[in-house]
Amino acid sequence: MGKVIITNIGTIASGNIDEPILKADTIVIEDKLIAAIGGKELLDHAGDARIIDANGATVTPGLWDTHVHVTSGDYAPRQKTLDFISSALHGGVTTMISAGEPHYPGRPKDPAGTKALAIVGSKSFYNAPPAGVKVHGGAVILEKGLTEADFVEMKEQGVWIVGEIGLGSIKKPEDAAPMVEWAHKHGFKVQMHTGGTSIPGSSTVTADDVIRTKPDVVSHINGGPTAVSQAEVDRIMDETDFALEIVQCGNPKIADYVARRAKEKGMLGRVIFGNDAPSGTGLIALGILRNMCQAASVSDIAPEVAVCMATGNPAKVYGLNTGTVAVGKEADLVIMDTPMGSIGTDALDAIAAGDIPGISFVLINGEVVVQKSRNTPPAVRAAKPFIL
Ligand SMILES: [Zn+2]
Repeated sequence: MGKVIITNIGTIASGNIDEPILKADTIVIEDKLIAAIGGKELLDHAGDARIIDANGATVTPGLWDTHVHVTSGDYAPRQKTLDFISSALHGGVTTMISAGEPHYPGRPKDPAGTKALAIVGSKSFYNAPPAGVKVHGGAVILEKGLTEADFVEMKEQGVWIVGEIGLGSIKKPEDAAPMVEWAHKHGFKVQMHTGGTSIPGSSTVTADDVIRTKPDVVSHINGGPTAVSQAEVDRIMDETDFALEIVQCGNPKIADYVARRAKEKGMLGRVIFGNDAPSGTGLIALGILRNMCQAASVSDIAPEVAVCMATGNPAKVYGLNTGTVAVGKEADLVIMDTPMGSIGTDALDAIAAGDIPGISFVLINGEVVVQKSRNTPPAVRAAKPFIL
């Protein structure tokens, strides 16, 4: 792949919560990675680079959805829908983390079956990423009978995520905690369903269950869709350092409570955003943008920090090399601006006003994969190929 340069950028929302806005207007991409960030002087060595004129719009990292119930390819059996991943890409999502594949028809619930499903899920999404989106599938669902050797084998086969605990037959901390220890020992990231029962067959999980099980991620601390009480939220926030996931298909009142409390307590770096879809709630192509808008417009979170919750924060939790605008990171980027008719003056201002920004370009590994989103409202200042 040749060199790509994005220039005339109005604002760079970096996704890094320690420095959420970068003072620069040009990004150079080489060999799928961000190679330089700076001013127009970077154009001096453009050579035969493909140049994108951001037209004064805002660049953010590609968004993450940390809670997706993928199944196989771009098909959602729960809602009998195709192409939801492609649709999310048009909402700026370039990385998806599976929270387990419980919608797989006839999902096997024995140890060999759940292990096999995780291995197939992981390999199939890496072999054929739907719409180019970096889908990390094959999040193993914990079932009774799994052994430490199973975790070793799964890791060797590319599985590295434990889908939300509570979906399978392992529900209680006394059963889950030893498996979580094995998982951590072998380099897995672990998620745990939190709150009321989501679908028949899964279970209600309390703050106490979460604290005793020690996952990395408190999946949908605002409920999926039924939330724990505010007192239980307080316990999880105060007694652990786990990542706090807010989902779109959850309880909006608790989402607001968590965001405000995280701000008050200096815990905004722990908050990450997911959709919890496909699910009974449906499919929300713009769900991650909606989370950003809710946090910024309703919960008084600075919009550039809301961007971090959808990008750099989850990148830290999951340890992947995408999610911030920084040299050496994978060049997964979104160019967005205030949508036509908004009171917002730019993308961040629109998000703070509660308006979904308009996306003009999405890049994955430096390749333009969306030109003019089919799902967001149109951007006032749309990026365009640079013509001399
Ligand atoms: Zn759940």
